[in-house]
Amino acid sequence: MPSTARIALNRPLRRLFDYLVPEGLIVTPGQRVKIPFGRQQAIGLIVETNIEPPEGISLKPLHNALEEWPALPNETFQLLSWASNYYQHPLGECLFTALPPALRKGRPAMEKAEDWWQACGSSAALPANAHKQKNLLDWIAQHKQGAKSSDIIKAGFSRPQLKALCDKELIRAATPANDISEGRHAETIAAPELSDAQCEAASQLPLPEGGFSASLLYGITGSGKTEIYLHYLKQNLTAKDQALVLVPEINLTPQTVARFQRYFGERIQVWHSALNDSQRLSAWLKIRNGEPVILIGTRSAVLLPFTSLKTLIVDEEHDSSYKQGEGFRYSGRDVAVYRAHLNRCPVILGSATPSLESYQNALGGKYQLIRLEERAGNALPPSISLLDIRSRPLEGGLSRPVLQALGQTLDSGNQALVFVNRRGFAPVMMCFDCGHMVECPRCDTRLTYHRRDRAMRCHHCEYQASATETCPKCKSDAFKPVGQGTEQTEDILATNFPDTPIVRVDRDSTQRKGSIQSILKQVDSGKPCILVGTQMLAKGHDFPNVTLVIVINADGGLFSVDFRAPEQLIQTLLQVSGRAGRGSKPGKVVVQTCHSDHPLLKTLCHGRYLDMADQLLEEREAGQFPPFRAMVIFRAEADTMEQSLQILDSIKPLAKAPGIEIWGPLPALIARRADRYRAQLVLNTDNRKRLNILLTGICQTLERKKLPKGTRWMIDVDPQETG
Ligand code: ADP
Ligand code: ZN
Ligand code: ZN
Repeated sequence: MPSTARIALNRPLRRLFDYLVPEGLIVTPGQRVKIPFGRQQAIGLIVETNIEPPEGISLKPLHNALEEWPALPNETFQLLSWASNYYQHPLGECLFTALPPALRKGRPAMEKAEDWWQACGSSAALPANAHKQKNLLDWIAQHKQGAKSSDIIKAGFSRPQLKALCDKELIRAATPANDISEGRHAETIAAPELSDAQCEAASQLPLPEGGFSASLLYGITGSGKTEIYLHYLKQNLTAKDQALVLVPEINLTPQTVARFQRYFGERIQVWHSALNDSQRLSAWLKIRNGEPVILIGTRSAVLLPFTSLKTLIVDEEHDSSYKQGEGFRYSGRDVAVYRAHLNRCPVILGSATPSLESYQNALGGKYQLIRLEERAGNALPPSISLLDIRSRPLEGGLSRPVLQALGQTLDSGNQALVFVNRRGFAPVMMCFDCGHMVECPRCDTRLTYHRRDRAMRCHHCEYQASATETCPKCKSDAFKPVGQGTEQTEDILATNFPDTPIVRVDRDSTQRKGSIQSILKQVDSGKPCILVGTQMLAKGHDFPNVTLVIVINADGGLFSVDFRAPEQLIQTLLQVSGRAGRGSKPGKVVVQTCHSDHPLLKTLCHGRYLDMADQLLEEREAGQFPPFRAMVIFRAEADTMEQSLQILDSIKPLAKAPGIEIWGPLPALIARRADRYRAQLVLNTDNRKRLNILLTGICQTLERKKLPKGTRWMIDVDPQETG
């Protein structure tokens, strides 16, 4: 019998394709092949060999294998197959996520050699009017080790200019300089000694040779978790081992990468969305070739084809960016735990504010709970107090006592941070004559006023319009911003503290400046200043001179319909608070609220996260929410709400089974977004296995169904957002 293979394609299809394997070719699962597909060619990945094709179908032979080895080694292949089933996402798309873009497109699995150039003549030899060539020659001459063509082009020169210099023998081909960033050349340095508390925590971490284990390292902000990771890896990785350190967003915290590089030098590789295709391919090849890399990466790094992975670390494991919000909706953290299990190695989940899922796993004995409740060095945990702002006059959201506290902080030579959870100037523009509020014409939301660019913007679609001075409806000039955004707070602070730099950090300001780092330079100087910003400021930064943190308003998450909102609120508040007093000076946090008697906020003042987590877990259990039950959401979007509800209604009978609760279908919280009508159906169960089997059937059925044009459905297992 001729040999056959079942192949997955990078398409959103819940099916595989069978082919004949040409004689003499041996293929294995995970291997890349080129196949005829319709009238075209496609790149596929072998899923199974020697299958029995359905009768009466004559198979086409596949063209060839792109390499002799499987691009996805066994463990990675198994991981992705599991994830495909768990998250109910088509296998082909899951498998292809583990390939760098170049390999998805069928390019060879090797790095393209770059041409390098070195100067070997003087610009005096050039005609006086050849300014461009002269500049280029000078530019290349500055790079003593040689310059890469791609960098030369990036610097604004052209290939013909390069060729002209080459023809005149003013430059010549060079051997490549080691193409890596500066930090990597740094001498690796010894880690500072761990404190007693850190040692105690570190000694509880299981060793790589001990097989699978999951540990939840609960360490308060500034307790030195990162230092523990560094020590652990330094002590326990052999020269051949690979390790993975997942972080939520690398761009926000390049200091972390720099710290790892100082310890491990060239072993450190990074993986994140800002890499270009060739950088991705290069990192991917190192990992696949089993080089002993320590990879610091965002979510998708967990899917890469490691061959000798000995430890996984998930830093800030509670961070919602570990969950992919579209397409293959996996949780990088949860996949990391499964990967450690498959691979029989430890996984360490670290956070000052662990997710309720991980904390419950620790309480239930699945994970080991390691506590680190002292700050590293001389730093003390910040003191947190509530300030009730009912009936207090506010200026741009700031109360008198808060403005006074800010003044005192600056006077004593320190820095302060003001946390506002909205960017822009104000979330609503309202007419105080006719009551009109400016809405997005395409969404069921209001437009945010951005005063810096005189624009009204929708934060849910691309819509924007110019801001008007008067009410667009009745032309009244009693047309005013309502509520606070970062721009407004920045203005008020600038008025109150005219001699102090105010540093705004939000999506708008970082986009304008290129990066958060360039903005934070001013803060690094250590001189008095006030930082104003959103969530972005809560993430892992070390601001040693910030001694006061103000939270403008804590109430957003207290009464939300999203069952995760209180957890996220507390996590954000504690993470922001954690920016205070990280140096030798003690920190103070003031939280403005209209609900100072709310039990959750009262517990916040003790600063003990696990107490709040206990409280929140009780509520989750009472409401039968995750982590006590599994949740899955089907979402639909269409040109009308009826169509969306119809698709979801058709799922209901298929999902009926004992132990499975069905809620909905209901319109989503923002029912219309970018002119699409969205609805959702929630399934909730204590029998994950049974639900998973049902889901496979439901997804197959939906995929076969002919849906009206423009109608889409999605499935989200363990959803992070439930609105
Ligand atoms: P976390 O990751 O828990 O927020 P970090 O590892 O970033 O904490 O440590 C917080 C600060 O304390 C950093 O500035 C770090 O350099 C410092 N630090 C950590 N451990 C020690 C130690 N053992 N001795 C001195 N300083 C330390
Ligand atoms: Zn009006
Ligand atoms: Zn909109």
